[in-house]
Amino acid sequence: MNSFDKLTKLFSDFPGIGPRQAKRFVYFLLTRNPSYIDEFITLIKSIKADSALCSSCFRYFISNKSPSTLCPICNDRNRDLTKLMIVARDVDMENMEKTGVYDGYYFVLGGTVPILEKEPERLVRIKELEKRLAKEADLKEIIIAMNANPEGENTEDFLRLRIKEISGAKNINLSTLGRGLSTGIELEYSDSDTLKSALKNREHTS
Ligand SMILES: [Zn+2]
Repeated sequence: MNSFDKLTKLFSDFPGIGPRQAKRFVYFLLTRNPSYIDEFITLIKSIKADSALCSSCFRYFISNKSPSTLCPICNDRNRDLTKLMIVARDVDMENMEKTGVYDGYYFVLGGTVPILEKEPERLVRIKELEKRLAKEADLKEIIIAMNANPEGENTEDFLRLRIKEISGAKNINLSTLGRGLSTGIELEYSDSDTLKSALKNREHTS
C-alpha cells in the first residue's frame, strides 16, 4: 500500500467517515503548504500528550500534564452528588453540559451495545461502572441518557439489567430521558432546548 492509500485507510477509520470522504481529506492535505502539515502533525502528537482519561467519569480531558486524575467536573465539589448521568460518549456529555441545567456527575460508557452483541463487556465500561456504583454512598438517581434509536435502547436495557441489583440494594432510582414528541433524540445533535426538556421530562422507571 502506498502512502496515499494508507492515509485514506486511516481517515476512513474515523467515526462517520467513508472511503470517499477519506480520499477528499488526503487530497486536501496535498494542497496545503508544509507549515500547515507540520502544525497538523504537532497537534496530533500533543493532543495525546496533553490529555488524560478521568479516573472517575472516564472522559478525556485536557490535563496539561497535571498529576490530577480527575477532570474539572469530577473535581467540582459544588455539583449534586445525588445524581449520576450515564452517557455513551464524551460528545454526549459535552452537549448535555452546554445546556447548563444538569448539575450532577457523569459516567461515560465509551460506546453502545449493538443488538445481539455477545460480549458487551468488550465494548462498554460496564465493569468500571459497577465498580463506581459500589463505592457511591450518596447517589439517589441514575439517569440513563442514550440516543433514542434501537442500539441506544438496547444499551439502556443492558445497563438496567446489570445495575438493577446494586441500584435496588442502595435505593437508587433509575430514569431515562423523556422522549416527548420527538422519537429520535440523538444527544450529539440535539440542541440545548431539546435536551433541557428531555431532562426535565425524564421518566422514572424504578
Ligand atoms: Zn471526570
